[in-house]
Amino acid sequence: MRQDGFPEPTRAAGLARLAAFAPRMGRDYAATRNHDFGPGDRSNVSLLSAHVRHRLVLEQELVATALAHHAAAACDKFVQEVFWRTYWKGWLEQRPAVWFAYRARVAEWQGRLRSEGGLRRAYEDAVSGRTGIACFDAWVQELVETGYLHNHTRMWFASIWIFTLRLPWELGADFTYRHFIDGDPASNTLSWRWVAGLHTRGKHYLARASNIRTYTQGRFDPAGELDERALPLVEETSHPTPVPFPPSESPPAGRVALLLTEEDLNPETLPFAQARVVALASVMATEERSPFPLGQPVRAFAEAAIEDGLARGAQAFAVPAERLMDVDSVVAWAKGASVDSVVTAYAPVGPVATLLHRLGQALREVRIPLIRLRREWDSLIWPHATRGYFQVKDRIPELLSRLGLGRENAARLSRRPAL
Ligand SMILES: Cc1cc2nc3c(=O)[nH]c(=O)nc-3n(C[C@H](O)[C@H](O)[C@H](O)COP(=O)(O)OP(=O)(O)OC[C@H]3O[C@@H](n4cnc5c(N)ncnc54)[C@H](O)[C@@H]3O)c2cc1C
Repeated sequence: MRQDGFPEPTRAAGLARLAAFAPRMGRDYAATRNHDFGPGDRSNVSLLSAHVRHRLVLEQELVATALAHHAAAACDKFVQEVFWRTYWKGWLEQRPAVWFAYRARVAEWQGRLRSEGGLRRAYEDAVSGRTGIACFDAWVQELVETGYLHNHTRMWFASIWIFTLRLPWELGADFTYRHFIDGDPASNTLSWRWVAGLHTRGKHYLARASNIRTYTQGRFDPAGELDERALPLVEETSHPTPVPFPPSESPPAGRVALLLTEEDLNPETLPFAQARVVALASVMATEERSPFPLGQPVRAFAEAAIEDGLARGAQAFAVPAERLMDVDSVVAWAKGASVDSVVTAYAPVGPVATLLHRLGQALREVRIPLIRLRREWDSLIWPHATRGYFQVKDRIPELLSRLGLGRENAARLSRRPAL
């Protein structure tokens, strides 16, 4: 465990935290999850988002553990939160234009920060924690030092950034994305858009001093400091029409080279079918999160997580592991290993998917296919994320049944050994 109570960036530490948190995933979680007790007490939340984001631990494992320890009705809040993550993924996967527009706007604002002194000073005050709003300034410090903020605090943080400080939401989303150890293109970008009133059009999230006082146990009380009457942001364009994502590719056969990325560090459970893994390597796109500098905890987490994934992969497939730096070195490695294909886990919209797109093109030139294996969890749930979250939420029992985690399996789940 890290000194501050966070599990180390390994699967073993993630599973240990999962086991320790399991008894709290039921009514305790529902009753206390909205409280931010402060960085010294994170007992009411799992702290597993960075592990799940890198798939050191799988969404399915979180849900199965909750259902193994609690009746479905008791842990429904926890299960629903895990589904929020998958909802955001599915929604963005079917509207990649929203991601690319966000990226373009961050680059645009970066240029304007150079030329517009007023904007630059306000932005620098915000990202240095010098706004004079005590709660916001403390959260900046916590974010930069630990790489984490409580969910409710993320909502207040984004709301104050947008509606009180009146800074561009894209620069705020960029700031958290490059500092959260769980920084995720879908959860981060779309949560910021949700707070702004751009996801559920016209419905924004306004941080209120009384709510902050209540849910921080009075640690903060920004009475009179927040704009509690601001109107939602407005976008000229409507949401892009959902585009179907490609069907899942067939598991490979023959000699394959397995490539790990920070999107999925669970090589043991990828569906390999008849393939024989003869080479193992990793490539990262963490630095591509932002044109601005990344937080140190982000880099440290991703690096250690990759090392852990490689070590487990090397053991599982009895092959040596290599760390590769770019597309060219992956192509050279695949050629050198004389493989039939390079296999990797499907990466949803984001820097890794962009890197894999380039890699796929480069490998095609040397006639080696790149096979992207998508997990059943994603393939099954994403297609339902075409509109609001409630479309997915209402289907949770049915989706869990199809994943073998439904009520009919309750007896089997409760006999599972605690993780
Ligand atoms: C503005 C904003 C930005 C965010 N950016 C990210 C991000 O970059 N990466 C990220 O993983 N989450 C993000 N979230 C969602 C959420 O805040 C974190 O997942 C959660 O706080 C992680 O802490 P935990 O693991 O202790 O959560 P728990 O409360 O223990 O929840 C269990 C799991 O459910 C999932 N989850 C919980 N709440 C949410 C949620 N609201 N949306 C999506 N998944 C959820 C996470 O995988 C989490 O590990 C953001 C939320 C907001 C409001």
